[in-house]
Amino acid sequence: MPTGTKSISPSVKTAYMREYRARNREILRAYEREYRKKNPKIACSRGMRTRAKLRKQILNAYGNACACCGETTVQFLSLDHIHGDGAAHRREFGYKQLGSGGGEIYREVAKLGFPKDRFQLLCMSCNHSHGRYGYCPHKGRPTEPLVGRKKWNRTAKQNVITAYGGKCVCCDETALEFLSIDHINGQRRADETRHKGTYFYLWLKQQGYPKDIYQLLCMNCNFAEGHGGCPHKCPHKCPQQFTCTELAA
Ligand SMILES: [Zn+2]
Ligand SMILES: [Zn+2]
Ligand SMILES: [Zn+2]
Ligand SMILES: [Zn+2]
Repeated sequence: MPTGTKSISPSVKTAYMREYRARNREILRAYEREYRKKNPKIACSRGMRTRAKLRKQILNAYGNACACCGETTVQFLSLDHIHGDGAAHRREFGYKQLGSGGGEIYREVAKLGFPKDRFQLLCMSCNHSHGRYGYCPHKGRPTEPLVGRKKWNRTAKQNVITAYGGKCVCCDETALEFLSIDHINGQRRADETRHKGTYFYLWLKQQGYPKDIYQLLCMNCNFAEGHGGCPHKCPHKCPQQFTCTELAA
């Protein structure tokens, strides 16, 4: 590009760049391949855009709403394996963790023609409740009383929820099945990591339920805060009416 670009009109500049790219296509591609190899983390942003596009297709194909509660906020929606074979499916692609391997699974679902008998959309709260408890309170709770270990777990969680105000600090959700303890500054305390599940709840009690480090969030708000990429974190707090993190996966 000639020097003094400031005085050149934008359309001339665009035309020049287009012509430049066409002229040097092969060189630029080779450079990009090299760059991607050297900087896998940075280079994945393009992959993320492709994935976001694919995610949009998936959301459209599956009705843009949670199959359980009708939630339509895109940041809360996740693709659910109806038959509970999500973990096995992720392993097929070499992924272990929940939420990983999304891109590959999206591609596969698109290739299969968006089968409705295998996949559905669920919001993170309904998804968590189905996975963790085997039901969702939106459809009613089991009537038989909890006994033994299950009762012990439930009581400990109920106590923590009561101590932390009984509802999601973002959206006021109160259902126990949807609520989780969130680390306000995103960091785990070193002495906390030894305490898992119900032991974590009992440990919190021992610590006197510290409010400066932990808060209650529902799974939807918790997920959005962790993955939104929006400065307002949860779409509930976003003045742009849920649009500014629309492409977040
Ligand atoms: Zn839902
Ligand atoms: Zn539900
Ligand atoms: Zn919430
Ligand atoms: Zn929220």
